[in-house]
Amino acid sequence: MSARVLVVDDILPNVKLLEAKLASEYYHVITATSGAEALEKIESDNPDIVLLDVMMPEMDGFEVCKRIKSNPAFAHIPVVMVTALTDTADRVRGLEAGADDFLSKPINDLALMSRVRSLVRLKMALDEWRVRENTANQLGVIESESNVMAEPVTEANVLIIEDKEFERRKIVETLEADNHHITSVDTGIQAMGEIAANNYDVIIVSLTLAGEDGLRLVSHLRTNERVRLIPVIMIGESNDIQRIAHGLEIGAHDYIMRPIDKNELIARARTQIRRKRFQDRLRTSYDISLSMALTDGLTGLYNRRYLDVHLEKLIKKNKDASKDLAVLILDIDHFKAVNDTHGHNVGDQVLKVFADRLKNQTRSFDLVARMGGEEFVVVLTEIHNDRAYFIAERLRQSIAGNPVNCSAEGGKLDITTSIGATIVKPDENLSPEDVLKRADECLYQAKESGRNCTIFDDKGKLDAEEFKSPVRK
Ligand code: GH3
Ligand code: MG
Ligand code: MG
Repeated sequence: MSARVLVVDDILPNVKLLEAKLASEYYHVITATSGAEALEKIESDNPDIVLLDVMMPEMDGFEVCKRIKSNPAFAHIPVVMVTALTDTADRVRGLEAGADDFLSKPINDLALMSRVRSLVRLKMALDEWRVRENTANQLGVIESESNVMAEPVTEANVLIIEDKEFERRKIVETLEADNHHITSVDTGIQAMGEIAANNYDVIIVSLTLAGEDGLRLVSHLRTNERVRLIPVIMIGESNDIQRIAHGLEIGAHDYIMRPIDKNELIARARTQIRRKRFQDRLRTSYDISLSMALTDGLTGLYNRRYLDVHLEKLIKKNKDASKDLAVLILDIDHFKAVNDTHGHNVGDQVLKVFADRLKNQTRSFDLVARMGGEEFVVVLTEIHNDRAYFIAERLRQSIAGNPVNCSAEGGKLDITTSIGATIVKPDENLSPEDVLKRADECLYQAKESGRNCTIFDDKGKLDAEEFKSPVRK
């Protein structure tokens, strides 16, 4: 999919020039010739990046940028200010309005393309997380709409890799004055040691280190799993646009040219800190929403939704490995009476203890799920049927033989469970529903034949004595 670029400039030839350059790189270009039109196009055309002229009548670029960035629905769209102004104060004003970068007129093609490509890539990565957040919102498992501009921008951990003493001191002092925690090192090796030991929010790398290639270090940082998500800001020489473009290409997030302007450094660091925190938050809320959607709140076990999807995978996996699979359904006996006699609260306590016992007595790669109510499923993978009988009986006996501590009168309750189980052979072609149905029929028989017993489809009712002592395989 080609990215959509919104080009905004009040002078039509400027628009046409940028449009031609971007179209030749296969971008889909949308245009606007005023601030007001730009804001409309952002609503209607959903661009992936905005190239925004600064000097426009009525509403100037700073104001347009501010409005984009103050709307939570659009704040994550990167904005690049395009300007004839070369004054650093203007650049800083734009960065503070939330712009992601500046390009000077006349526009250098290499700088334009590498910057657009890099910002579009970052935006698309964020979009994926935003879609997930949206789904989680719709499922009702989280209630928030995050806004990148609302993220805090101070108290960040910053790592600086710069071997020139004077330069380093300037960067450290500047960022310390903006309330960040700074660590500085001279070499890539030291940097990797720091990164392995601590969590950083931003890494600032000089591209002119004496003993090593700063770009190689950037590339190394991008491919290292642990640090891939930490934004990297490069420090380059102003005549070195070639290497900076290359750095953006291989995944650095931003750059600053020497001589470093203190306010520009602060603004660029803040932009990256904000972005990192925003992405971290989307990721965390996604992890939480995922676990809420797939696990049962009371017991912490996987829920029915997860069981349905995962059982199918386990059946296929066992088929490929030519192994047997055992599926057990456990249903607590006369559980309604527990609720009726001792209250729902005690019933919940029993369900929790029951779930813990199942979890503690199975292997980490076995699947334990709560199907609903007081029905649980245990899937034993790559298992021999003799071993499955022992495990099923061990589970049943661990329930029947140990009263559950709870807030019922006397502090304890005797609980039993019935188990229906089936062995799935690798040459069978069964859906998860077929398998559960087969186990459920055995469960029904177990209930019919007096409860507190285990029935396997291939073995019938298990003899409690025969399967008492655990076997080692
Ligand atoms: P059987 O031996 O035939 O399985 O009888 P039973 O009473 O266990 O089975 P039945 O299906 O009649 O009752 C299940 C009860 O489980 C009814 C329901 O109120 C209760 N239940 C279901 N979910 C929960 C829960 O989350 N917490 C509590 N406390 N009770 C629950
Ligand atoms: Mg029951
Ligand atoms: Mg039941």
